[in-house]
Amino acid sequence: MTLTSVSRRAHRVDCPERPRAGSRPDLGRDIVLSARRRTTALVDVIVIGAGPAGLAAAHHLLDAGLTVTVLEAAERVGGRMATDTVEGFRLDRRPQLLNTTYPELHRTPGLPGLPLAPLAPGALVRAGGRGYRVGDPRGVRAGLGSTLDRARLAATLGRLAATPDARLAARPETTAARALSRRGFAPRTVEGFLRPLLAALLLDPELQTSSRVGDLVLRGYARGRTCLPAGGAAGVPERLAAALPPGTVRLGTPAVRAAVNAVRLADGTELPCRAVLVATGARAAAELLPGLRVPAFHQVTVFHHTAPAAPLREPVLVLDADRLGPVSHSLPTTAVDPTRAPSGRPLITSVVLGPPPDGDSDKTVREHLAELYGRSTDRWELLAMHTDPEAVAAMPAPHDLRRPVRLLHGLYVCGSHRASSTLQGALHSARRAATTLLRDVEPSSPSARPAAA
Ligand SMILES: Cc1cc2nc3c(=O)[nH]c(=O)nc-3n(C[C@H](O)[C@H](O)[C@H](O)COP(=O)(O)OP(=O)(O)OC[C@H]3O[C@@H](n4cnc5c(N)ncnc54)[C@H](O)[C@@H]3O)c2cc1C
Repeated sequence: MTLTSVSRRAHRVDCPERPRAGSRPDLGRDIVLSARRRTTALVDVIVIGAGPAGLAAAHHLLDAGLTVTVLEAAERVGGRMATDTVEGFRLDRRPQLLNTTYPELHRTPGLPGLPLAPLAPGALVRAGGRGYRVGDPRGVRAGLGSTLDRARLAATLGRLAATPDARLAARPETTAARALSRRGFAPRTVEGFLRPLLAALLLDPELQTSSRVGDLVLRGYARGRTCLPAGGAAGVPERLAAALPPGTVRLGTPAVRAAVNAVRLADGTELPCRAVLVATGARAAAELLPGLRVPAFHQVTVFHHTAPAAPLREPVLVLDADRLGPVSHSLPTTAVDPTRAPSGRPLITSVVLGPPPDGDSDKTVREHLAELYGRSTDRWELLAMHTDPEAVAAMPAPHDLRRPVRLLHGLYVCGSHRASSTLQGALHSARRAATTLLRDVEPSSPSARPAAA
């Protein structure tokens, strides 16, 4: 369905919205397209970007009775949660580990019941030149550190799991690296397990991320289960999109300007509306909304390999505490989620926190993987490699997990860069932006939400 057919359901609304003086002076006159003219809105809200945040926001706005169109520049929904199919393998462009404690996974329309493939607790860690199984409840293989170290790790993680939000927020904010040394863990446990684990979860090799974010991520790890979205990361946005009324999302439609009452497309068309919600990544948002800060980013590179035989049967995260090579963490993906590969063909996914290594990057990565898995990787075959220089926004201290989502009356912004660089952050920012928008813009008709396909 196109914008025109969406409008058949919408009441026509005259829209003399003006930016409210003083809300954000830096986002003033120059971004108001035709706001001074009275325009006829065909739809209440235009959402720019069909990543998880934009799709979730569309649900909240539709549920409140507004009419919504989502404009997406790409030819598919999902943004950074994209999955490619290559030779029958389901390959995430950006490998995603979700946590069962993400509240928005259970609250966002379309997501409850999302199939998740859990990892085994703990990790297989290469530390001091040896492989250790850390946090394995069955006690297989030698654990890292002494029995006392392991007991302290379990007790400290248990305490962290029980720590309420208010107590975490009251802790002085520093870097995640510095905070780790002050949380009561044995130094061997920090270096041999928690530091590489947190680097993998935060995609930040030096742990310069705010300790507040680090604490929340570590608490989620202690409370819940780390999972892959079954079948690929794209399953998340695809479920969100499938639960929207047909035609809500317009693919291949990049917006070039956003104003309080209209969006301009690349061909110069102006689409009038009563409010605009920008739900792109941070850089695209700053291009659409001059004045918005562009954060620093972490670069991430992913390698997907297949091998003649599975290197590991246990569905466990593989970490390198020794930092002997470029790989931060690796996953025997098909041991976690067999649906991601043709039958009998193992898939191994490995992450470099930074650019691909110089020279023959595949060879360098496979040599490191041979160390981590303790077996030859000579016959491993590279299926795909992707690097993203602006994979996730950095979150140095002090980090505001509730960055403003309202820029002007009629102009709003959401996405993971308004919260935390996670799926939970993207979805929660969408909920906040929609709630804020709904305080300014009432439904133009009391009509119920149209049915999904
Ligand atoms: C390598 C990597 C690993 C990650 N790992 C994890 C993880 O383990 N766990 C976790 O929870 N999160 C992880 N994340 C973060 C998670 O993927 C993001 O937080 C989430 O996808 C952000 O969603 P979003 O909707 O805010 O933005 P995006 O997913 O970036 O979506 C924005 C959308 O806007 C569209 N767009 C941009 N400009 C325009 C325009 N001008 N007009 C129209 N459309 C436009 C884009 O095409 C895109 O579809 C990872 C991210 C990366 C990159």
